[in-house]
Amino acid sequence: MTDTDDLACIELVELVTDYLEDALEPDVRARFEQHLPSCPGCEEHLEQVRRTIQVLGALPQDERLSPQTRARLLDAFREWRAHPQPEA
Ligand SMILES: [Zn+2]
Repeated sequence: MTDTDDLACIELVELVTDYLEDALEPDVRARFEQHLPSCPGCEEHLEQVRRTIQVLGALPQDERLSPQTRARLLDAFREWRAHPQPEA
């Protein structure tokens, strides 16, 4: 629940497409995979992007994160932390 956590989330969100394209440096990829299990918000984002790529075949360039999208995602992560949803 710290700014450090938020920064990790932003980093991860920005790296999702590279991760799915297997384009990350090994050490970055390791950090990415370390963060995921501790952060359902990022895990869900990863799944959403993965599904988008499956449907479209690729992620269009203009689907990459704009500052507005990034801000919205960060808000969503904070909201999730403030109000964790019960497991279905
Ligand atoms: Zn995260």
